[in-house]
Amino acid sequence: MHRYMKEIYRAYEAGIPIVGPTQIAKSLNVSKSTAYQMLKHLAQLGYGFYLERKGFVVNKKGIEEAKKIMRKHRILESFLADNFSMEACKACKEADKIDGCIGDDVINMIEEKFDYRVCPCGNTIPK
Ligand SMILES: [Zn+2]
Repeated sequence: MHRYMKEIYRAYEAGIPIVGPTQIAKSLNVSKSTAYQMLKHLAQLGYGFYLERKGFVVNKKGIEEAKKIMRKHRILESFLADNFSMEACKACKEADKIDGCIGDDVINMIEEKFDYRVCPCGNTIPK
């Protein structure tokens, strides 16, 4: 689910209000029906609503949740790139594997120690 939330956050950052299953399927390399089901599921969880034939429209609760996940992702990316001279792309892939399960306390410890503001790709780390 966190992979979907990151895509939704990226769209939101880019000023795109509706995220369709085709777009999600492409960026996450899943089938269109899987993407569709997951977006409907996110709507059921109260993170937004699903406009049939259009896509998922995120709400305030959804943005807050997506922001938390993206914050973890970008702090981890920064940490990996900065401390292990990992390339941005590799740091991103590795961060994808752990950002969904790492605890808030560890993320806060990293943030306190390093105070990252932008990720290695140049995106702002949400607070
Ligand atoms: Zn990344």
